[in-house]
Amino acid sequence: MDNIDNSSGSKGLTDGFGRSFPYLRLSITDVCNFRCDYCLPNGYQGCKKADFLSIDEIKRLVNVFAELGTNKIRITGGEPTVRKDFTKIAQLISSHSSISTTAFTTNGYRLAQNAKIWRNAGIDNINISIDSLNKERFFQITGHDRLSEILKGIDAAINVGFEKVKINVVLLKGVNDGEVNDYLSWAKSSPISIRFIELMQTGDNQQYFQKYHTSAITISDELIKTGWTLRKRNFNAGPAQEYIHKDYQGSVGIISPYSKDFCKSCNRLRITSNGDLRLCLFGSQGVSLRHLLQSDEQKHLLIKLISSQLAFKCSSHFLALGDTGITPNLASIGG
Ligand code: SF4
Repeated sequence: MDNIDNSSGSKGLTDGFGRSFPYLRLSITDVCNFRCDYCLPNGYQGCKKADFLSIDEIKRLVNVFAELGTNKIRITGGEPTVRKDFTKIAQLISSHSSISTTAFTTNGYRLAQNAKIWRNAGIDNINISIDSLNKERFFQITGHDRLSEILKGIDAAINVGFEKVKINVVLLKGVNDGEVNDYLSWAKSSPISIRFIELMQTGDNQQYFQKYHTSAITISDELIKTGWTLRKRNFNAGPAQEYIHKDYQGSVGIISPYSKDFCKSCNRLRITSNGDLRLCLFGSQGVSLRHLLQSDEQKHLLIKLISSQLAFKCSSHFLALGDTGITPNLASIGG
């Protein structure tokens, strides 16, 4: 992928394929209050009081990963803002001198009331899932009739000055793939970045995947035909191929995990809400770090364990073989 701007990439953690990992996706809960068809169609089934990472454990994780070259942390879930201490966690991460970018992904249900508080907590970038701009279809996909209040939240997020406001759209064949132009119109008049994300197969959604998966490549072909150009990707950016257009305030990102060489530029590691290190979204193994998050004196052992794991990182996912690893749904690992 030659459109990667690696100018300020710190070496830090690297794997056997020469990839470095400045970007950590940190899940702080797998609880979600929505029931998106492609993820938790029956809602969250686990124990709401489950033993998720504590603030002290998160602090030790952030310190160690920062020492290992991480400079971008995305807070994920389930729905991360269901945690009452979400703002405190965001402050803890954004206040670390080595973390240059703090981001989070949300379904937006608390955004309208909290945009300013979360911006003041030091969060730079926000991704909000909006899988349809049609009220009924949004309700059909998420199980919640909340589109209008979430759209108000996005206006608030733009007004309080988040550096990046991105809209995640999981493409669903025959459901929302007819709304691409509506999203483009939105990006024409608003400083947002629309992310069209290919539906990914997970352990629990195989039938749904077969019925609704559609490639996002058709959209990038159409964008190029209509004057959009590919923007250089920052070394710690997410996987999107980002397109810009002179007549548009916003931009469009295409995330197509089924495309060739998608994993060649992998730059992220994941921590689950109960402290497992996951080398890949669809990996077949995780290693628990929790026993080494109990005191600051364990730091060197933690660094040793994390560093040793990179040797096991595979060159790519094996989704094309139907191998979804140990990921039953995206809420279980923070997407
Ligand atoms: S699927 Fe796995 S290897 Fe590929 S980009 Fe995602 S995390 Fe990296």
